[in-house]
Amino acid sequence: MELTTRVHSIAGLLPAGCGLIARRPFRSPHHGVSGPGLVGGGSPPRPGEVSLAHHGVLFLDELPEYPRTVLESLRQPLEDGHLSIVRAGGRLRFPARCCLVAAMNPCPCGFLGHPTRRCTCGSDEIHRYRAKISGPLLDRIDIHLEVPAQRPDALQDGDGGEPSPVLRQRVCAARERMQARQGRANALLDPRGLRQHVHAAPEALRLLGQAVDELGLSARAHDRILKVARTIADLEARDAVGLDDVSEAIGYRVLDRPG
Ligand SMILES: [Zn+2]
Repeated sequence: MELTTRVHSIAGLLPAGCGLIARRPFRSPHHGVSGPGLVGGGSPPRPGEVSLAHHGVLFLDELPEYPRTVLESLRQPLEDGHLSIVRAGGRLRFPARCCLVAAMNPCPCGFLGHPTRRCTCGSDEIHRYRAKISGPLLDRIDIHLEVPAQRPDALQDGDGGEPSPVLRQRVCAARERMQARQGRANALLDPRGLRQHVHAAPEALRLLGQAVDELGLSARAHDRILKVARTIADLEARDAVGLDDVSEAIGYRVLDRPG
């Protein structure tokens, strides 16, 4: 967390008397944030939210409310894990290896697919709203999930799922497996590392090939699906990546579908 501490120190956000930041940062900038405020820059250059979230979480609520140019500026740091700023005096590099979490409504009124409320949006309106998030940005987001509204009785009867402490143990064990296998998290594998360390069953690769063709996915999305599938298998302590893992990972790309 040393780099995280240094970024917070440069931004003047380190509390007095604080040594090393021990908790992973959680940053949730408002959609009024500027481009330099989100990714860094300005004069003198300062780290942006994506760097303040280094080794932590950057949460963007109501994603389509952010100006498109501001969102597009996230592409380079999300891809590279750092932000490069070129100035007359040389090149500056701020770390930006964060977990991006973003939320959006299914439509402008928010009720599309709701079990009891009626959506009042026209199809053009829904299309325009979703088009605010560009394909290349979506490409860089590994998991797109729909979270449908729950009926109150389902909320009350629900068993709550796997408790957080148990889940935490599984996540830690999965990360240890990744370190032992390849010395880094699955998300950080480059294309060569992916070929070397992620071996999926032939039928799983066939399914992935079909999905890429039918959904018109990019090479980047193809690799990201494989990494998510590898992670699903790691969470269950399995060495092999099977058909079910790849099928589940493809199911997490709902926004890629023509809609
Ligand atoms: Zn609506």
